[in-house]
Amino acid sequence: MTSITTFRFPSNQRRHYERLRRFPDRLIVLGDAVSSVNPIYGQGMTVCAIEALELERCLRAHALTRAAHKFRAAVGRIVELPWMLVTCEDFRYPQTKGSRPPGVDFINWYTRKVHELTATDAGALLTLLGVMQMERHPMSLYRPGIALKVLAAAVRGFLARRKASSAPQSLSHDTESSS
Ligand SMILES: Cc1cc2nc3c(=O)[nH]c(=O)nc-3n(C[C@H](O)[C@H](O)[C@H](O)COP(=O)(O)OP(=O)(O)OC[C@H]3O[C@@H](n4cnc5c(N)ncnc54)[C@H](O)[C@@H]3O)c2cc1C
Repeated sequence: MTSITTFRFPSNQRRHYERLRRFPDRLIVLGDAVSSVNPIYGQGMTVCAIEALELERCLRAHALTRAAHKFRAAVGRIVELPWMLVTCEDFRYPQTKGSRPPGVDFINWYTRKVHELTATDAGALLTLLGVMQMERHPMSLYRPGIALKVLAAAVRGFLARRKASSAPQSLSHDTESSS
């Protein structure tokens, strides 16, 4: 056993090699060299594995130069979703810097509501775990079975807050005697 060591992960990092107009033929870039994300979400190796499968598919389907070109484009698409997921989550923290993905506030509000729902709803929990482990598409969190429950909980919460704020305030009983 070694002694305990700590690590710092200063930032998510993504390189858009797929956008370059000039790129060396047959050079393959994958894994963290393309996209390296906050390890607390545990998606880096899954993304690498998906990319490795895609590389195999490209090599089987095309000659080397074309396979490398096709693969570079495919990697750009593969990392898009996990990149959006982790950067949205990171933007919950005010210290996070960078360009905010569109709709990030709504996505984070909705995801928090799904998390709350998972305390009592096994179906929502399994769907959320599937999304976190990249077995299910994030849009499965927005299917009616979950979205309607999230909406109902949000309406209940809103009504409860409104009722609480319109309830009469308790009177303070000052017992100052006047002479
Ligand atoms: C603390 C931590 C926890 C993580 N937990 C999870 C998790 O739970 N689940 C998950 O899916 N992902 C997790 N990840 C992410 C995952 O480890 C990475 O996404 C994955 O290892 C990337 O694989 P890679 O092959 O691209 O890079 P790496 O695994 O970093 O491999 C790169 C290799 O290249 C070598 N190398 C570098 N420079 C040179 C050089 N000049 N010459 C020769 N060799 C070189 C390095 O020594 C290294 O062995 C975690 C990451 C960290 C930092």
